[in-house]
Amino acid sequence: MTSTDSPDCLFCKIVAGEIPADVVASSDTAIAFRDIAPKAPVHVLVVPKEHYPDVPAFAATDAAGLASVIGLADGVASELADGQYRLVFNTGPKAGQSVFHVHAHLLAGGELPGFA
Ligand code: 5GP
Ligand code: ZN
Repeated sequence: MTSTDSPDCLFCKIVAGEIPADVVASSDTAIAFRDIAPKAPVHVLVVPKEHYPDVPAFAATDAAGLASVIGLADGVASELADGQYRLVFNTGPKAGQSVFHVHAHLLAGGELPGFA
């Protein structure tokens, strides 16, 4: 546990190995694992190992960590797809955020639907 771990947080438990996940990549500061309910041929969640509730909190405190999350996502997109991808940070319940440990949705593989 680190000072920013949140004991009831699903993604902190995945980071700690307490809940299994299909981990596809990791770095010193972040891990990438497949979403349990994929919305694209490649749908991977990239999360910092430290707990932050959302992306603005993460960026304000650890900009280098945010860059590391994006770098890990970029590498996974090249490994598992063709290096072209969409990164989504849902921020707030109205935007669809349901897990309050910051995570990038990496969506890739094939033609992604456009925004309406
Ligand atoms: P959000 O809705 O917060 O932007 O994204 C949370 C994501 O976590 C969802 O896409 C959901 O499918 C995924 N998810 C929820 N529970 C689990 C789980 O136990 N394991 C994995 N791998 N993904 C999960
Ligand atoms: Zn957490």
